[in-house]
Formats: sequence, structure tokens, C-alpha cells
Amino acid sequence: SQRTEAAIREEAVETVDGREVEVAANVGTPAELGPAAERGADGVGLFRTEFLFLDRESAPGEEEQYETYREAIETFPDGRVVVRTLDVGGDKPVPYLDLPDEENPFLGERGIRRSLGPDSDLFETQLRALLRADADTDTGSLAVMLPLVTTVEEVAEAKAVVDEAVDALESEGVDASVPEFGVMVETPAAAFMADELVEHVDFFSIGTNDLAQYVMAAERGNDAVAELGDFRQPAVLRAIDATTSAAAGADVWVGMCGEMAGDPELTELLVGLGLTELSMSAVTVPAVKARVTETDTDAARALAENALAAASKDEVIELLE
Ligand code: PEP
Ligand code: MG
Repeated sequence: SQRTEAAIREEAVETVDGREVEVAANVGTPAELGPAAERGADGVGLFRTEFLFLDRESAPGEEEQYETYREAIETFPDGRVVVRTLDVGGDKPVPYLDLPDEENPFLGERGIRRSLGPDSDLFETQLRALLRADADTDTGSLAVMLPLVTTVEEVAEAKAVVDEAVDALESEGVDASVPEFGVMVETPAAAFMADELVEHVDFFSIGTNDLAQYVMAAERGNDAVAELGDFRQPAVLRAIDATTSAAAGADVWVGMCGEMAGDPELTELLVGLGLTELSMSAVTVPAVKARVTETDTDAARALAENALAAASKDEVIELLE
């Protein structure tokens, strides 16, 4: 009912048996922050920062970015804000970045690969703006997240850049804080290596849009292979399970920020797979929150076990019905 939904909006939700699940919003521009809070998002699980860099002649400077990140953190004084570092390359043209013309952009210089390569200056500026914004908002809790990670070296290298940025700011007498540090699991390599990556991070966030694309070798957005790239493919579920299982023994939380997280029909399955944070487009936050409150963890685990044992997508769909 309306009343229940309004009540649910106000607060954090938990399962029937008392397990808290954070329900956060994906945000692509500052204009989406307010509406996300109004819909009851506990925080931002994915702040895509590409908008800052698109449709302009040159990259935004540290101050401009600082203001934007500060606004995001201040919109959610009680919640976490996960900001993803720049994820350009491949299919998104940015004239001043001189992106290469690639035959397979989805397999080329994207995300963290560019941040540790040709865009290292931008990466440093972005990190400085983030660390300052976090330090200057005393209620905020910022998390920095890397896109398209495939190797442990990338994570270690990026963490070193974060640490260097903290040191540099401190030596300049500027306040900087050390944010939570995590990676997106959106490549098969990251899922396979999750038990090693877990040593280097505070959290994982599963990006099912790219993960399904790469696991199933089915381009996202290509209707001809959409059925193959379905999140309910057992191969996709097993990649998710590899990630949550790796984190289970460590002090690392696992969220999901791909489109899969916003489907209320899949909430029970995702809780059963061990996700403790779900981030989605703000419109679906109330429905997913409601589903969490109806979920029993034991039943959800049983559902997940069965889904992981399924031989086909159709079997998974049957289990969900
Ligand atoms: C994803 O890949 O699932 C994701 C959340 O990132 P994006 O859609 O921005 O690639
Ligand atoms: Mg992605």
C-alpha cells in the first residue's frame, strides 16, 4: 500500500530475519541526487562521473569536481556515496581525450586502463577532488570505486595513486581523508580473481551490465544477443557467486550496481547470493526495498543454491516463478 511504501522510504530495510540490505541509487548527474534521496535511497551505490567530462572542450578542473562531489556527499549525510572514477573509452567519445579508434572498443582502452595510462593526470586530479570533498564534509562517507578492473596489479597501482594523493594534499596543508576503496567486478577476470582482489579492497560492487556482456560474449545493447546476455544465465550467477564467496570470509562488503540489482523480481535471489547492498536507478528503490522486507534469508539462500545448480536460463526462470 501507499502508506507502507512511504514508511519504507524513510528508513533502512532488513530482511524478515533481520539482515540489513542497503538499497542505494545509481546517479549519472547531480540533478538526479535530490530525487534519489526523495525516493528513499540509503545512499549512492554508483555515481557515474562521466557526465563531468562529456560535452565540453576540456577536462573539468579540481575545483569544479570538488564542488560536485561535495554536493553528492552532502545530499546523503547518513549514507555512503560510492563515486566511480572516470570510465570513458570504448564507445563514449570525448574529443579532448584523444581516444584511440579501436576495432573492439569494449575490449580496448577503457576505465581503469586509461586512468593508469594516458589519463593518469585526470585520475590524479579526480582523486584529489574526491579526497578533499570527503575531508570537508564531516558527516559524509565517501567510497572510491575503480571501473573495469581485471588484475591485482591494477588495483595495487591505483591504490598507490590514492595514497600518493593523500600524502601530496597533506604536505600542501590541505585536508584529505582516506576513503573506502573498492572495485567494480564487471569482468570475468575480476570474478575469477576475487579471492586475490579481496586482499586489496574494502568492497566489491558487481557491474552486471558489463559482467553479463563479457561472461556471455554478448554485446550489451545488441538486441540480437539480448537473450544470451540475460542476467539470469547460470554462468552470470556463478560469476556473482565467485565474487560474494570470495568476500564472505573477509571483512569486505559486496554490492551490485548493474541493472540486475534494480529488478524486484530478482531481489530474493540476490540476497541469497550474498549481496548486502543493491544500487539501482532511483525509480526502483521503493519496490526493491519492499522486496527486501519480504525476504527470508534461509529461503533466499536455498533459491540461490538451486539457481547456481541450474543448467540453463530457463531452469533459473522456472525457479524464480
Ligand atoms: C555495469 O557495467 O554494470 C555498470 C554498472 O557500469 P556501466 O553500466 O556504467 O558500464
Ligand atoms: Mg560497466
